[in-house]
Amino acid sequence: MSAAFTSEDQKLIQEQYEELLSVAYKSKKPEQRELIQKAFNLANESHNNTRRKSGEPYILHPIAVARIVTHEIGLGTKSIVAALLHDVVEDTDVTVEDIRFQFGDKIALIVDGLTKLSGVVFDDKADLQAENFRKILMTMAEDMRVIFVKLADRMHNMRTLDSMPPNKQLKIAGETLYIYAPLAHRLGLYNIKTELEDLCLKYLHPKEYELISSKLQESKKKRLTYINRFTLPITHKLKEQNIDFEISGRVKSVYSIWMKMKAQKVSIDKIFDLFAIRIIFNPKEGITEKSQCWNIYSLITDMYVPRDDRMRDWVSKPKSNGYEALHTTVMGPNGKWVEVQIRTTRMNEIAERGYAAHWKYKGINQEEGELDVWLKRVREVLENPKDDAFEFLDDFKMNLFSSEITVFTPKGEMITLPSGATALDLAFYIHSEVGSHAIGAKINHKLEPLSVKLKSGNQVEILTSDAQEPQPEWQKIVTTAKAKSKLNKQLKEQRQHIPEEGRIHLEYLLAELGIQPSSNVFRKLFKYYGTRSKDKLYYKIGEDKFDKETLQSILEKRSKNKWIKFWDIEYKKGVDASSKFDKSKPMVVDDSTSNYEIAECCNPIPGDDVIGYKHSDTSFIIHRTSCPNAIKLNSSQSSKVVKVEWTAHKIYAFLARINIKGIDRIGLLNKVTNTISKDMNVNMRSVNMESTEGIFEGRIDLYVYNVEDLNSLIKELQEVKGITSVFREEIKDESLL
Ligand code: MN
Repeated sequence: MSAAFTSEDQKLIQEQYEELLSVAYKSKKPEQRELIQKAFNLANESHNNTRRKSGEPYILHPIAVARIVTHEIGLGTKSIVAALLHDVVEDTDVTVEDIRFQFGDKIALIVDGLTKLSGVVFDDKADLQAENFRKILMTMAEDMRVIFVKLADRMHNMRTLDSMPPNKQLKIAGETLYIYAPLAHRLGLYNIKTELEDLCLKYLHPKEYELISSKLQESKKKRLTYINRFTLPITHKLKEQNIDFEISGRVKSVYSIWMKMKAQKVSIDKIFDLFAIRIIFNPKEGITEKSQCWNIYSLITDMYVPRDDRMRDWVSKPKSNGYEALHTTVMGPNGKWVEVQIRTTRMNEIAERGYAAHWKYKGINQEEGELDVWLKRVREVLENPKDDAFEFLDDFKMNLFSSEITVFTPKGEMITLPSGATALDLAFYIHSEVGSHAIGAKINHKLEPLSVKLKSGNQVEILTSDAQEPQPEWQKIVTTAKAKSKLNKQLKEQRQHIPEEGRIHLEYLLAELGIQPSSNVFRKLFKYYGTRSKDKLYYKIGEDKFDKETLQSILEKRSKNKWIKFWDIEYKKGVDASSKFDKSKPMVVDDSTSNYEIAECCNPIPGDDVIGYKHSDTSFIIHRTSCPNAIKLNSSQSSKVVKVEWTAHKIYAFLARINIKGIDRIGLLNKVTNTISKDMNVNMRSVNMESTEGIFEGRIDLYVYNVEDLNSLIKELQEVKGITSVFREEIKDESLL
């Protein structure tokens, strides 16, 4: 839209700009004022005669964004300048280079970041969404101000969303609710977050929004009367103590009421029965803020009885977004619960302006704040991007949205982790070496596996063993970005050694057998392992580490065996990724097949009767035929089910569980573990023993290559004196997977 500006327009622009200056010029040096003026001039010229969808001059938008940036977020000159210029590169002929030339590197960087973020974040292509989201965070890591200006931009766009067509309204509101509101929350911009959410609700669920806001309006008078009655005695007491304070009744946001109604499935009237007040005071000098907060707390609880379970002390330990306050809920007149928030003016500014205010108050030598730790974690995620944009998004959201837990080391050191973190996450948090050698954890002095999810307040001791090495299955246990990247690095390093170990192992055995490493030898080994590359061969041998006898038998294999093996390989090519899906023939799974996954519900191992379920064009999930899920699949989606046959497995081990019962006697566990560990084809993963009144029952999780190995082990264990029964058990415990 462009129609030459009228004198009315010019007047409006001038008015709004002056209003901005009245806020922005506060305590600014002359050169800073000049910079703001220069930015306005450039923006005003560039956007000249262009209009927004609403018809108003375009320049009013950057002015409004700059006003939000300074007045509502509390940022300084550079951010005001960037806000004024935030749309010029995108919408006009001005380039980033022009801005660099006129305003310097820093502002050019911020404007460039904002330009890259412009447009609608969410495209129809889901993959792109994740990628764009990542882009937002990348720019954020470069300079936080990019994201603050972006939030201000979005705030103003939401305030003026009325002039957009309905389909755009929905899209923009949805996107705001999905990303920008949580981001504002994470950065501690409470007011902006609340207003964004309310506006989103207004466009996404107009009816509910109307209902709740009209109810709020109706009940206003009644609420005020009650709050006055509640606060009167408090006001008296605080005045007696010469405390400089303000007290206000707090209205819940429309959005938070709506969420509460949804979550608790309660009627709207029930929710309106909740009251909240806030006390903001100017602390006296010479006494810590903390003890002054607690003093007010104690004055209030002298008058009203507090509810034990609703005490929140974010003064001693601020929230990770920097929020500090003391919250309590007390019983007010007529038996109604009233939430009371106690804050100093400083805390209040942090609560409302978030990170920006946090910066302002942060002393130079103060130790790293919670938010800095969080930002560091964001950077870690960004610096270790996943190939899969979605996985990245999940990781990130985990770090962004989840609340946090606090655990303690045996020495009482406090460690903050994202909620959902496991003992193994903590191990890697402490040190890479602690992570790689971890074998278990003592939680509140009780032995637990590494996969156990930690809870706030847990005292956790990580148990390590020098013999331990990083395990590939740990990838399913770690949840934090930091632990994941450390573990992946270790596994990668570990894998790099395997081919070399394989080569040395092979050379050693051949020398032992007095055999020259001829091309004939390699041909046989290639066939046995189903590969034609020496690197892959060494890798497989490095993992396998077969003994002299096995090597001998491989090399002595007759041509008939070779033929079968060869035929297998050729055949397998037929079921490989690109090929057709032929239901009439069984699918053969062996060491060189990689397009399958083992179902976690029944953990089949080679030798079990199994079926394959085709869950994508290229990949199968293998279930035991007896597994309830397999039965369901067979009956409902039989076109995707194929018969599977295992061939000799020597490379990959599979998880199985055995159950042992017996008479508890000294040394029995030792005997059992010895029996298992001397078996070359079995690796123990975890042991869980319980003993009551002389009888013990244990579950041992093992890695085996096939059913034969497992059965022979079971047979051996049955021989152990004191054991009454041994059998294979289904793995049902989710936490072990
Ligand atoms: Mn804009």
